[in-house]
Amino acid sequence: MSRTLAPGKLVIATHNKGKLREIQALLAPYGLECLSAGELGLPEPAETGTTFVENALIKAHAAARAANLPALSDDSGLSVAALGGAPGVYTADWAEAAPFEGGPGRDWYMAMGKVEGKLAELGPDAPRDCWFSCVLAIAWPDGEAVSYEGRADGTLTWPPRGTLGFGYDPVFVPVGDTRTFAELDPAEKHAISHRADAFAKLVAAQFAG
Ligand code: IMP
Repeated sequence: MSRTLAPGKLVIATHNKGKLREIQALLAPYGLECLSAGELGLPEPAETGTTFVENALIKAHAAARAANLPALSDDSGLSVAALGGAPGVYTADWAEAAPFEGGPGRDWYMAMGKVEGKLAELGPDAPRDCWFSCVLAIAWPDGEAVSYEGRADGTLTWPPRGTLGFGYDPVFVPVGDTRTFAELDPAEKHAISHRADAFAKLVAAQFAG
């Protein structure tokens, strides 16, 4: 059996406000005292892995070591089937704004346009199937770690719709719905998202029984 979290403090190892909001909401019933990497002033490590699992573990280990507390990280991204799974682990990088585009910082509308542009290059009949992936990793200060992977399937829509959520939510229509993630209220997104799928596996391993 893998190691489980004891009641007490847990660092949420992300500087992404959208992810932080969703993870805090998902963790709310479990009575942990959540501290964010931002409020602890933890640095953001370079995400040098080539998989979601590797990057999630890099972030969780870095935060656990720096804070001397257990830490939960999230590595996630959007994969488009017709683009061979891109942007995938490089989802956040596709939003890096070039200096002439108003950078530094991340421009999600530019990133969504980049994905749409690549699909358009393949022609009007290119399949628009895509999926979000999420890996949640927990690391302890002594170096032990566990991870859980989730996925949500959907199709890309254009132009973007909706103002809720974050990142690529305005172009992602989950299977079984006609609305984008950015048109669902948070509770609806939490019922079906890649993050919720990974979280359900985490809960089954960490908090069940
Ligand atoms: P990273 O995990 O820090 O590499 O960033 C992953 C990026 O994927 C995020 O910054 C978002 O742009 C995107 N992403 C991950 N999860 C979601 C989601 O739930 N909705 C929309 N975009 C997401």
